[in-house]
Amino acid sequence: MLDVRNLEVLNPATEEVVATVPAATPQDVDAAVARAARAQEQWAAAAPADRARLLRRFAAQVDEHLEELAQLEVREAGHVIGNARWEAGNVRDLLDFSAGGVERLNGRQIPVPGGLNVTVLEPLGVVGVIAPWNFPMPIAAWGTAPALAAGNAVILKPAETTPLTALRLAELALAAGLPEGLFQVLPGEGGVAGNALVEHPGVAKIVFTGSTRVGKQIMARCADRVKRLTLELGGKSPNIVFADADVEAAALATPMSYLDNSGQDCCARTRVLVQRSVYDRFLEVVTPAIESVVVGDPADEKTQMGPLISRTQLDRVRAHVTPGDGIHGTAPEGPGFWFPPTLLTDVDPAAPVATEEVFGPVAVVIPFDDEADAIRLANATDYGLSGSIWTRDVGRALRVSGGVRAGNLSVNSHSSVRYWTPFGGYKQSGLGRELGPDALAAFTETKNVFISTEA
Ligand code: NAD
Repeated sequence: MLDVRNLEVLNPATEEVVATVPAATPQDVDAAVARAARAQEQWAAAAPADRARLLRRFAAQVDEHLEELAQLEVREAGHVIGNARWEAGNVRDLLDFSAGGVERLNGRQIPVPGGLNVTVLEPLGVVGVIAPWNFPMPIAAWGTAPALAAGNAVILKPAETTPLTALRLAELALAAGLPEGLFQVLPGEGGVAGNALVEHPGVAKIVFTGSTRVGKQIMARCADRVKRLTLELGGKSPNIVFADADVEAAALATPMSYLDNSGQDCCARTRVLVQRSVYDRFLEVVTPAIESVVVGDPADEKTQMGPLISRTQLDRVRAHVTPGDGIHGTAPEGPGFWFPPTLLTDVDPAAPVATEEVFGPVAVVIPFDDEADAIRLANATDYGLSGSIWTRDVGRALRVSGGVRAGNLSVNSHSSVRYWTPFGGYKQSGLGRELGPDALAAFTETKNVFISTEA
């Protein structure tokens, strides 16, 4: 049980206490919303060039402290150091990208009989960003940077287990010169501080990234006020390998397509679908690749996979799979929250482990017969976030990407996320899109003003 007043941050690789952080109460949320509303009024009235300059300074602060932020992420989240550096760099780049959009956030003029319609994009006001623990820095920034750039204030509630990088980002924002109160970080429990943000009448929009279960609850609560909402939820993404692909390359790329971040990745390709004629060859190549994944100290540059975030998460994974099942690698004994890389064969495609999000280093491999069968299996889940298609046939790549109901697909690759392209899910993987050319517009209301030429 978490102490309501304090959050204990553990290093998941050692179980040592890294820090103890006070948890925000609903009264803290009230005070933060009032401060944010005051700051937002001035921020929205500032010249766009001034807002852009401050956001670029914020990006520069992140860049200057990139190694410190990355090392903090290793300690509080167990991320391998190379990934943690990428994550801090993603925050910097997204701040710069968003700063570049401030002066380009313009409306339109639409001629109409007897006058002119002018559309104006107005900021929403105070935005609440509720982030998960699996990518604490980037996901905090995906909501925060475009919202600030569009003229809003942001209150960020990080996950209970990973508040430290978020708190450091708030300090860097102040050091960059962002107005007091414009970007506030309130660590706290989801059901307390998170819920208070969702229900607060002064918060105009919620950006929630987390589980589909909690996302549905938040959507229901936002309905009461018709509160604006972006949801980035779970995934169970397919990795489809056709016989005409470079099967060896596909097999060698498979382990890190679902073991990255110890499988705690909403885009993890956890359903490996392989055409039956190359299924045995695929297993021959993928087996040693999984067995040789380097699992251990995330601060070591050679490590490929670190621990899970917490004992709770380890227990969740163990409820689906027993360590040592299927094709598997090795993991340290403990202390720390370790689970070996695992690929399960001979799984019923309808079994929970094949359809539910495990959120650990576990995938299933399932054979298929033809293109139609591959698309049917790929879509046989409530999720629709990501997916990969391995083929040398361009027509097939286009047909299959047209048939798979998911927001982010890759052909002959597993890469899903670039801050300048849109990201989000179909079906129960989410609602709305983040990042990309329209990222700032998602934090505005469109107002249409008719100007009569008759008078
Ligand atoms: P979670 O849903 O348990 O928690 C996410 C956040 O919501 C935390 O900050 C938590 O404190 C808060 N929260 C919990 N209950 C709340 C409530 N009642 N009201 C308001 N806030 C509440 O998810 P998690 O376990 O931290 O993260 C893992 C999940 O996130 C996985 O399902 C993963 O797929 C998903 N995820 C999705 C994306 C995406 O972009 N689609 C990205 C990363 C993670």
